[in-house]
Amino acid sequence: MAHILIVDDNELNLELFRDVLELEGFEVDIATSGKNGVKKARTMQPDLVLMDMRMDGMDGLEAMRVLKGDASTSHILVAVLTASAMKGDKERLLAEGFDAYLQKPIDLASFADEVRSLLEMNVKRDN
Ligand SMILES: [Mg+2]
Repeated sequence: MAHILIVDDNELNLELFRDVLELEGFEVDIATSGKNGVKKARTMQPDLVLMDMRMDGMDGLEAMRVLKGDASTSHILVAVLTASAMKGDKERLLAEGFDAYLQKPIDLASFADEVRSLLEMNVKRDN
């Protein structure tokens, strides 16, 4: 089963996202800061990182850049999970290097399906 690392500095978000994804059978790990997320991605090699944007210290954008700039993690899908939904935000974040954009608050009914589609996208990219 796919392994997902969730990076978010909000514990309620972490619990909610983890519960939803674990119920769907995903293997889930969490990190509460960008720095810790990068560290865990290096050692755990997840299939997908769901990355919050606004975090103290290393924010989501910087953490994504570190992951994409490191040969040991550059292959890992990194999706931004953000409440930032102004016009143009999605395009801007994808242009920055995120592989996908997911919006907060999540839609409980479709979140796991969205995650599944991202993972399938990665399988196609590898082949
Ligand atoms: Mg945050």
